[in-house]
Amino acid sequence: MSALVLGHKNPDSDSFVAALACTHLYRLRGLDVEAAAQGAPAPETQFILDRFQLETPPVVTSVAGRDVYLVDFSDLAQAPADMKEANLLGIVDHHKLGDVTSTRPVEVIIWTVGCSCTIIKRMYDYMGFEIPQNLAGAMLCAILSDTVLFKSPTCTPMDIDVAKELAKIAGIEDIQALGMELFTAKSAVKGYAPRDLIFRDYKDFNMNGSKVGVGQLELVSLDLIEDMKEDLQAELNKVKSEEGRHTALLLLTDIMKEGSLMLVASDDASIPARAFGKTYEGAPLWLDGVMSRKKQVVPALEEAFRG
Ligand code: MG
Ligand code: MG
Ligand code: MG
Repeated sequence: MSALVLGHKNPDSDSFVAALACTHLYRLRGLDVEAAAQGAPAPETQFILDRFQLETPPVVTSVAGRDVYLVDFSDLAQAPADMKEANLLGIVDHHKLGDVTSTRPVEVIIWTVGCSCTIIKRMYDYMGFEIPQNLAGAMLCAILSDTVLFKSPTCTPMDIDVAKELAKIAGIEDIQALGMELFTAKSAVKGYAPRDLIFRDYKDFNMNGSKVGVGQLELVSLDLIEDMKEDLQAELNKVKSEEGRHTALLLLTDIMKEGSLMLVASDDASIPARAFGKTYEGAPLWLDGVMSRKKQVVPALEEAFRG
């Protein structure tokens, strides 16, 4: 059986596109691999797959006995439940080092850049392979998504350089215009159940023994969810009460105002509030300048949960 190239749970665009881009690269290197995803594409990802005519990778939720390359994560909490029974062959990622381990030598490339696809572009360059035009366009979109149009504090000069190089390959002249199209697609909330919105881009973490979930919706305007906040809070309370979670948070990020409204459901709401120097009084907390779960939210929460 082919080795799987697999992104994280609740897959985002980078997870999908990185899996496709790595699969193409690994095949050029003569490896027997196939892309997979741990779920269906969200509206933003569907926009990318349609726009660049890429096939949707199949959903895989069990990897026992399989050879697996991970892209865009290295945390067991974001892997299929039976990940420990799989053979890890490699990782390409741009997050904190997670807790997967291997029984054999592995190819691990983890850089502190804004997007897995930035790393993968440099892997193509390093190995001397060309990226097909449509894949380059999709990789550009993944970078625009992960770096929030280069505005996220996770964005590095390399992400911008690589995005420009990919735009050239893809024949895209106006990167910002493509980015606005992308985030407009991403902002689709009308007609979706609160639960779907919470889990659209959601991650569980183990913070000093407490299970903490953080969902994030990146929107071109918070007006889009103005009349949905109470329903989202009610559903978030349910999510908190499930799977032994101590805390469930939902970040409603306004990408134009560059900040996030944080909905809180917690056994002790003072902890996530304290993480951002706030006190919790039952209302969502506005976190000015906070856009990145990975770089701003998770580290602050981990410190607060350490006590
Ligand atoms: Mg991701
Ligand atoms: Mg990513
Ligand atoms: Mg993201």
